[in-house]
Amino acid sequence: MCGIVGYIGTKQAYPILIKGLKRLEYRGYDSAGVALISNNRHLNVYKAKGKVSDLESFAAEKDISGTVGIAHTRWATHGEPSQANAHPHYSSSENLALIHNGIIENYAILKEKLQSKGYVFKSSTDTEVLVQLIDYIMVTNKLDLLSAVQLALQEVIGAYAIAVLEKNNPDQIIAARKSSSLVVGIGEEELFLASDATPIVEYTDKVVYLDDEEIAIIRRGEELKVVNFKNVEINPEIKEVKLNLGQLEKRGFSHFMLKEIFEQPDCIYDCMRGRINVDADNVVLSAVIDYKEKLLGARRFIIVACGTSWHAALIGKHLIESFCRIPVEVEYASEFRYRDPVIDEQDVVIAISQSGETTDTLAAIELARSRGAFIYGICNSVGSSIPRATHTGSYIHVGPEIGVASTKAFTGQVTVLAMLALTLAKEKQSLPREEFLEIVKELSHIPEKMKKVLELNHRIAGLSQIFTYAHNFIYLGRGYSYPVALEGALKLKEISYIHAEGYPAAEMKHGPIALIDAEMPVVVIATHNGLYKKVLSNIQEIKARQGRVIALVTEGDDVISSIADYCIELPATLECLDPLITTVPLQMLAYHIAVCKGKDVDQPRNLAKSVTVE
Ligand code: GLU
Repeated sequence: MCGIVGYIGTKQAYPILIKGLKRLEYRGYDSAGVALISNNRHLNVYKAKGKVSDLESFAAEKDISGTVGIAHTRWATHGEPSQANAHPHYSSSENLALIHNGIIENYAILKEKLQSKGYVFKSSTDTEVLVQLIDYIMVTNKLDLLSAVQLALQEVIGAYAIAVLEKNNPDQIIAARKSSSLVVGIGEEELFLASDATPIVEYTDKVVYLDDEEIAIIRRGEELKVVNFKNVEINPEIKEVKLNLGQLEKRGFSHFMLKEIFEQPDCIYDCMRGRINVDADNVVLSAVIDYKEKLLGARRFIIVACGTSWHAALIGKHLIESFCRIPVEVEYASEFRYRDPVIDEQDVVIAISQSGETTDTLAAIELARSRGAFIYGICNSVGSSIPRATHTGSYIHVGPEIGVASTKAFTGQVTVLAMLALTLAKEKQSLPREEFLEIVKELSHIPEKMKKVLELNHRIAGLSQIFTYAHNFIYLGRGYSYPVALEGALKLKEISYIHAEGYPAAEMKHGPIALIDAEMPVVVIATHNGLYKKVLSNIQEIKARQGRVIALVTEGDDVISSIADYCIELPATLECLDPLITTVPLQMLAYHIAVCKGKDVDQPRNLAKSVTVE
């Protein structure tokens, strides 16, 4: 959610800031802005509602000179998306400009206090309160910006990543974070600041990830200095980032989402590399081995996640329970954190998040840790907050996911969960050896099978045209396919804005079947597995009520193809790995329907990639 970029150095800041904002567009936003200290020492702020390109048009004729600046893409939480509410926000004196990602929870009390001191507000944001508060502290106590930021942040309750620019002190940026990510890039005679490393990687591979309650003092011609709120200096740990630029480009695909759907065979291969051996007869997830006593001694596992990761968690529950016979509960992180859950040191919590920054998941981790539980993270973004907040974990290694609707991260999460369950099952000896070997071998064949599914792209694009004007969709599945039905429905909602619901197929009779008529497309995951006959009956029930059935079936199935209106034939695999195959055509279906409807596939309205507010 929202993006922060900053630059100080020898080059003109504006083009670097704009390019950086574009790299962060994937996070989701509704307005954008930039603050620059110009060559003649003015603090210029330009803002626009809409896209970064709207900001560029707005700033086109203005003074965009300067070698220091900060820039922001906003995802509105307080106040509508508008030019006035876009960041940066000036202090009343126009000496300071500030950008912020997150929420200031006690902004109303602070605002009242500042208004009583004569401060006038131009926006409805919580952010403007913070810049005015810093200004107030600076002026009344005759303090420098750093000290004022330190004091102000001790008054603030909430989550934030901020960057502040000061007109009277043009050679520095002060940045700070709490529960929201911030990275400093270290170049030659230049320093960069960003919400994640994507805007930085084309200039330098040296980065420092700030921790909570740390303040970065980013000064021209000086080394990065990091202090905490009490002004104690912290030695910044410089890390090397391994992103390559190609991973951040569309490479000839019309959208990032389509590129990421097509990358899945390679991503799953990368995810398994070094974990499944070349003979495909063993799987080792090192974090599981390192902590096997803790994991095997657990009374139960609780998986906490949000959105697509929550769907992966449901598949993880099936996998772990069936391979390891350990009870697993799956929780929405946002519910778990506020529910006073029964949890203690005998529990293991698995936290799943693509970005590694999901605020609710982070809070769930903190709660579980405070009760003594052992925490295992499954994330994609290397160095993000969740891997740092957990005891151990595994990266999914699928590369940066730019499309807001998650695709390759989902299949990567399911793959890691399968490897986790297999590694644990081997240690526990809870799976017969032949079965273990069969599953590992089949997992190693998934990338090839995914490639075959991707060959269906044209056919699915054609099918999508038939359903572009549907207002509702139902997705059905049972067993391992039920979470896939949920995920298929979520993809469609996210990018085409068509209302869609996923149900366990047998639940239809308990209510949703009332919705079925000749207008209702019903996507049924009906691949050949243990529940095949049951799903077949569910399809008959829908057809008896004139519903239009799009069935995902296993190659060679001639029973369902004679009943369903449309069939998508998929390569056979083991039931427990079926989600890795059946999810892919549903991603393509959602993608093509959204394209037919002319929707902004990579940046759907109202959505953000990295959900950093609760
Ligand atoms: N709460 C702030 C606002 O609504 C910042 C939102 C963001 O993270 O972009 O302006």
